Amino acid sequence: TKSTAMMEEADKKIKVTRTTASTIGEVDFNNLAFGKKYADHMLLADFDGKEWINAEIVPFGHISVSPSNAAWHYGQAIFEGIKAYKDQQGNPMIFRPYDNYKRFNLSAERMGMPDVPEWLFIGGMAKLIDIDRDWVPTNEGSSLYLRPFMIAADEFIGVRPSDTYKFAIINSPSGPYFNKPIKLLVQDKYVRAFPGGVGYAKAAGNYGGAMYPTMQARKDGYDQILWVDGYDYKFLQECGTMNVFVIIGNRAITPDLTQGTILAGVTRASVMDVLVDMGLELEERPISIEEVVEAYNNGTLREVFGTGTAASVAYVEQLDYKEHKISLDTTKYTVGAEVINRLDAIRTGKVADEKGWNFHI
Ligand code: PMP
Repeated sequence: TKSTAMMEEADKKIKVTRTTASTIGEVDFNNLAFGKKYADHMLLADFDGKEWINAEIVPFGHISVSPSNAAWHYGQAIFEGIKAYKDQQGNPMIFRPYDNYKRFNLSAERMGMPDVPEWLFIGGMAKLIDIDRDWVPTNEGSSLYLRPFMIAADEFIGVRPSDTYKFAIINSPSGPYFNKPIKLLVQDKYVRAFPGGVGYAKAAGNYGGAMYPTMQARKDGYDQILWVDGYDYKFLQECGTMNVFVIIGNRAITPDLTQGTILAGVTRASVMDVLVDMGLELEERPISIEEVVEAYNNGTLREVFGTGTAASVAYVEQLDYKEHKISLDTTKYTVGAEVINRLDAIRTGKVADEKGWNFHI
């Protein structure tokens, strides 16, 4: 929950300049394409080497950057993805922003970047949503996708941590995610993350590195790669940009985070809670692709799904590993369906928010 002192600090430190030319009239809220349209305002702030200054909410627009910008060359760049919904009375709420805030500062630390204070990340986001509240969709399954990010700002092409940084938040209305079942490929060639690496950080380079392998998988008819470890090439990490859950009998299994190779999804944490509420036995531990194949062969594999802010829950209908072809009938995914229903009900205030996940604006 937000503290008054923190919001007062945000009000004091963040200057607001409102747009005189809203573009909301150009948006068809019944037909939203993800990431194409941005809300009227954005938040910007600069780190001057010591503290965060120039915090302001301004009309959304381009930023001028020197070609020598350090982030463009060496990738000190991190981001977050969060969603805001409206409750049944039409008031905006942000889903678990403090979890993303903590993860953002964890990513910042790993990339040698400065911490962002609460008044800027949470307070700034709250002010922004307050101003752009009309941009938070109310249509079933729609939301406002919030994208906080930080990049190095030094104009210097030597390799060293930047002294200065820019923090920003931009917001994009997004429509209901069409829950098309996905096809996954497990291969033993490309690896997303190693122990000691940056897999647990939401660092831009993790996504850049995944583009080529994913393009190759797409050529072969898959939607995403189910990433596995790079030693044994068999322990599941994540699928595409989602965490992975495997339902075997009454057990829900998801890879543990101890090696630092997996992004700790906020949806993952929420789904784990919901699965326990539903009476499943939750196992957070290493799980190999061989175990999944074996469960499939002996008829106990019920569901495989990915979880993330963008899609919520994405059902896996095909999972291929070497000569093994796992085909699953996603129309029978009762666990995944129930998880989606429960999450949706909480995020839109249809049921009491017993876990305190909604941050009210
Ligand atoms: N793994 C990766 C690599 C991701 O980019 C994301 C999306 N942020 C996730 C998992 C899911 O995380 P979350 O549930 O917090 O969106």
